[in-house]
Amino acid sequence: MVPDELIEKLRKIVGRERLKTSIEHRLAYSRDWAPMLASDAYIPDVVVKPKSTEEVAEIVKLANEYKVPVVPMAGLTGMGGGAVAVKGGIAIDTTGLNKILEVDTQNLTVTVQAGITIAKLNDELDKYGLWFPHDPESKRVSTIGAAIACDNDRVWR
Ligand SMILES: Cc1cc2nc3c(=O)[nH]c(=O)nc-3n(C[C@H](O)[C@H](O)[C@H](O)COP(=O)(O)OP(=O)(O)OC[C@H]3O[C@@H](n4cnc5c(N)ncnc54)[C@H](O)[C@@H]3O)c2cc1C
Repeated sequence: MVPDELIEKLRKIVGRERLKTSIEHRLAYSRDWAPMLASDAYIPDVVVKPKSTEEVAEIVKLANEYKVPVVPMAGLTGMGGGAVAVKGGIAIDTTGLNKILEVDTQNLTVTVQAGITIAKLNDELDKYGLWFPHDPESKRVSTIGAAIACDNDRVWR
């Protein structure tokens, strides 16, 4: 499904260490917490772990060019099967995008990369006497990007 030529181009974007094609690595990205049969694992063809928005943009541009599906995957604690590569393709592991870019205490806003966990964000905000109120039990691994994508807990809007 993902041609070798595309894998090579992806490797040029993220480097050897942040691109995985072994079955052991890909199996780890084959399901989230949705109730599924053991036989229901959907294995992506390749996993990439970008560290910047620019890398994500380049990956998605290439996926579009080759007409290969992409699935963003973060903590994989979603319970609806959203982070599952049902048609294979490229799994984009967003957990390398884990930086806080700006805390604006005046306007009570924070700018973060999508893969930061809710727990890490709140550990940092605690230094300013602030907190982000969406507080799922999965906070040690679940991310801001997924919370926005899933529209979790409208309390933080
Ligand atoms: C033990 C446990 C406790 C939980 N407790 C709660 C709770 O108290 N409250 C609650 O609301 N939920 C809870 N959940 C559900 C789950 O943690 C949330 O849905 C959480 O938001 C998923 O985050 P994740 O980073 O694991 O996302 P994933 O499961 O990796 O992804 C979820 C969805 O978001 C998409 N996505 C991820 N990152 C991005 C991105 N950067 N851009 C676009 N799309 C993206 C994925 O493609 C997928 O569709 C719990 C789950 C578990 C397993």
